Amino acid sequence: MTGPNGVDALAPVLGFIGLGNMGEHMARRLLEHGYNVVVYDVREEAREPFRRFPQAVVARSVAEVGDQADTVLVSLPSPAAARAVAVGEGGLYTAKRMRTYVDLSTTGPLVSEEIGEALSGRGITVLDAPVSGGVPGARDGKLSVMVSGSRQEYEALLPVLQVIGNKVFYVGPKVGQAQVLKLANNYLSAVALVATSEAMVLGVKAGLSPQTMLEILNVSSGRNSATLDKFPAAVLDRTFDYGFKTGLMYKDLSLCLAEADRLGVSMWLGSNVREIFKLAQEKLGFASDTTEIVRLFEEWASAEVKRQP
Ligand code: NAD
Repeated sequence: MTGPNGVDALAPVLGFIGLGNMGEHMARRLLEHGYNVVVYDVREEAREPFRRFPQAVVARSVAEVGDQADTVLVSLPSPAAARAVAVGEGGLYTAKRMRTYVDLSTTGPLVSEEIGEALSGRGITVLDAPVSGGVPGARDGKLSVMVSGSRQEYEALLPVLQVIGNKVFYVGPKVGQAQVLKLANNYLSAVALVATSEAMVLGVKAGLSPQTMLEILNVSSGRNSATLDKFPAAVLDRTFDYGFKTGLMYKDLSLCLAEADRLGVSMWLGSNVREIFKLAQEKLGFASDTTEIVRLFEEWASAEVKRQP
């Protein structure tokens, strides 16, 4: 049965917790696609913009979301926040209505497995569904979404996930598997960002134009997500507004190396890149943009990767 807004009138009520750089856009898109969404964030300034949507209910606590929504999606900054929201005091595990919990954050497989076990004991199905594609992808519904957990639940939720991302993949039946894939992705993304920073500073110091470098690299074998997206969008014009915090990338690299340790896998490059992000977090701050990491290499070399006339 299709309702006036185009969404199945029997569609579940959604909940969305964590309205930050990513969650704000994902929750907004769900509302714009006609879903009824109960939203919550600890920050009032993040909740405020949702009051203008007639189908949004702005909750006053995590528990209120779980009591009013069938399916709750979360986009949270850390494993600790995910644990608090799902299984902490006043968390979703006592929800009166929620039957499905979907974690869109990057929290690592350990916490996903822990939450999966705790909630499934209460009859709640857990999917981990980390995303990739940054704030522009979240804004435009062009994220990649990697999902693990029950295949049946994944298929039931596909229409919702397809509002968030245009590339939705089923990774496997075990909660936490998609988190491993996401950590591998962010490891590669971080390596590319650091390597590109080094290469661009080298070229500029030698007198090359950074625009010319990017133009040629992007049709050559050195291209990657930093040369294609991050440098043109946020470094060349010194806006540093790509939308992913340095502290969150450091968290992802730490989670990735913890998983490597757990599995007995060596990641030599990963250890170095994590140390570089740790230094960036100390020097530039947790909330600095990941693209600002180029500033470290610029300072050491006394050269700036800036659009030239
Ligand atoms: P963010 O810090 O901008 O947003 C997190 C939000 O969660 C904040 O608004 C914060 O107030 C809220 N929050 C924290 N603790 C809470 C709690 N206990 N209850 C309710 N709300 C709480 O982070 P983000 O950039 O939106 O990223 C969210 C997640 O998505 C992270 O795990 C990140 O690694 C991942 N991610 C981010 C990007 C990106 O480009 N920004 C891309 C892919 C994945």
